[in-house]
Amino acid sequence: MTLAFPFGKNDCQANAFLKELPMMNETITEKPDFDFENFTFGVQATDQMLVAKYENGAWSNFQIGPVKNISLSPLAMCLHYGQTVFEGLKAFKTTDGKINIFRLESHFKRMNRSLERMAMPALPASCFIDGIRELVSKESQWVIDDPEYALYIRPFAIATENKLGVDASHDYLFMVILSPLKAYYNSPLRVVVETNYIRSAKGGAGAAKNGGNYGASLLPQQKAKKEGFDQIIWLDSNEKKYIEESGTMNIMFILNGKTLLTPALSDSILDGITRDSIIKLAPELNLEVEERSIQISEIIDRIASGEQVEGFGVGTAAVISPIKEISYKGDSFETYVQEDAGMYRIKEMLSEIRRGIRPDPFGWSDLV
Ligand SMILES: *Cc1c(COP(=O)(O)O)cnc(C)c1O
Repeated sequence: MTLAFPFGKNDCQANAFLKELPMMNETITEKPDFDFENFTFGVQATDQMLVAKYENGAWSNFQIGPVKNISLSPLAMCLHYGQTVFEGLKAFKTTDGKINIFRLESHFKRMNRSLERMAMPALPASCFIDGIRELVSKESQWVIDDPEYALYIRPFAIATENKLGVDASHDYLFMVILSPLKAYYNSPLRVVVETNYIRSAKGGAGAAKNGGNYGASLLPQQKAKKEGFDQIIWLDSNEKKYIEESGTMNIMFILNGKTLLTPALSDSILDGITRDSIIKLAPELNLEVEERSIQISEIIDRIASGEQVEGFGVGTAAVISPIKEISYKGDSFETYVQEDAGMYRIKEMLSEIRRGIRPDPFGWSDLV
């Protein structure tokens, strides 16, 4: 179904448009036929998706409908030159029965920054924000009341012009799919400091959430796994001295239960929204925040001299991934993972805000 709609250049008026859709009147109240107790993340989308098209210089043809396969020409540019951008965010059930889409506005802004870096057209707020709100409320039966559960939201945009010449595409598709996610207890990881490959270089596109960054990180990850590690710590491209990120997450340390230490943002580090949330919550946990460059040798030296060092990856999907061991040039160093570690308190606090148990002074909750 393609619906013509007179979109303005800067606004696809999703809300006004959606109200006119006949499918808006269908309310689905039943729980879907899905085993919420036992499932693998990311292999199943929910029943409905959102699609918008960019053609002739404007986003249009905004629609929400059943999840379907998409048809692309083999000439479609996204299949060749990696002009793709994505986001990842989550919706939670609050204890009073509402649905909270966590930090929707921040994800919208970051999506547009990523699109800009990849020479792709910005999305109007009405398309991303109102569109996601509408899709999630239509799929509300997929947001179950369980503190471990979230509905993962995956917005993404791809270049769809049919042309093999290397250029920015003139046509794009924006889509949003939803997938159930359960955060089982993640056991602390053994991570290895990668001293050969890098994730991202100064001046590159590492600060954008573009698919290519992930493609390039798979081989080093695979090699680390073969050597018995769960994850990689990435170093900077110039000197291979400074810590950047861990796998596909930002990285943080808590020193002696007092200082929250994390690499300062740059064009080679992704501006994580979980990272930002934790930095803002730190004062409440009596943690002093240091955002600066961190040499790997500083962390190693601190651990070797007996300081209590917690290390953890932070990102939307797993929230907090505790690190128990850091391997650097063949030597292993143990980080602090006891039950009283600050990282667990951070995780708890975030979860309480998302579920509406703890007040949200930052306006992070978008209730539908
Ligand atoms: C998405 C992502 C993160 C985490 O960002 P969140 O907004 O916290 O989910 C960190 N690093 C990379 C490379 C990412 O793609």
